[in-house]
Amino acid sequence: MRKGAITRDDVLKAIDEYDHLGRDRFLSKYGYKPATGYLLLHEDRTYDSKAIAGVAHKFRHGRALRPDELSGGRSHAARWLAKVGFLIRSSRSPDWTRDEIILACDLAMANGWKRLEFDDPRVVELSDLLQTMPIHPEEQRNELFRNPNGVARKTVDITCRHPDYPGKPTNGNALDVEVMNAFLSRPAEMAEVARQIRNGLTSGEFQALLPEAEEDDQDFSAPEGRLLIRRHRTRERDKGLRKRKIAAVLRQGRRLACEACGFDFETTYGPRGAGYIECHHVVPLHEAGEGRTKLSDLALICANCHRMIHRRAPWPTPAELRSLIQSTATQGAALIPPQSAAAPSRAGLGHY
Ligand SMILES: [Zn+2]
Ligand SMILES: [Zn+2]
Repeated sequence: MRKGAITRDDVLKAIDEYDHLGRDRFLSKYGYKPATGYLLLHEDRTYDSKAIAGVAHKFRHGRALRPDELSGGRSHAARWLAKVGFLIRSSRSPDWTRDEIILACDLAMANGWKRLEFDDPRVVELSDLLQTMPIHPEEQRNELFRNPNGVARKTVDITCRHPDYPGKPTNGNALDVEVMNAFLSRPAEMAEVARQIRNGLTSGEFQALLPEAEEDDQDFSAPEGRLLIRRHRTRERDKGLRKRKIAAVLRQGRRLACEACGFDFETTYGPRGAGYIECHHVVPLHEAGEGRTKLSDLALICANCHRMIHRRAPWPTPAELRSLIQSTATQGAALIPPQSAAAPSRAGLGHY
């Protein structure tokens, strides 16, 4: 038989048999274990996707696939079922991201770093909000995704890691503690970050932003979370805005040179580099509000320096990066012979 060659009708027959036998008898009849990866969603009910896909083969090819003949994930069962039009959901909720933990910490802080219960209206409201966050792909959200129970549980994980908590902490994760520490050391700033994330979600602004390709990259992060970085990057990539900034600088008779290192694309690349420079939005993420971007909020920055600014939080201003470059060069000049110090490498240029 050709594995995966099943029709929607075969799947419906397997679902029928599942309904008829009940989950336990269906699974044990064909030797399958309960699904740990993906579930099939059909008419408001969930089914073990791997077992259903395996048994659907019986109706097309005369025998069901054994559990060791297929995987439950995207390479087999989940993909075959999706291909014939079924909805697939992950059975495990995805890990909490920094943005989500920021909102949960904000709630915990507002509650005096005490846990909240699942029926607390603030928990119910946050649960609704988290479900609108454009962070986790649809297929990873199961029916339990960020439900009030899960949100209340998160407030337990967070508050029991607070330095004043008297009992034994649960096995929370390192990111919870990192975000909570940011709230403890900069409460007003982080509350403002949370407020901005909330506003961006309720206004629909964040749902319209495209995810950044670098989001899972360790070299691309900030304590303010992905959504505010997306907004920052969207603003500085805005073609019209960049054009206006470049025109304004040229009108003042200034060169298009990096404000941190002085690099001028035209000087190095000739006509190919003429008129090129990137823009960095200098207003800190928690201060950059919903309003329009002003030209004075943008700094001219070369691709290398831009990458270095975004590489690690806190992001240096162009002036801070300039002194960093200068002090590194001074130290470097003392350490290495002058001829090798004269030609700095520009690897990584054109990363964006
Ligand atoms: Zn530069
Ligand atoms: Zn930037």
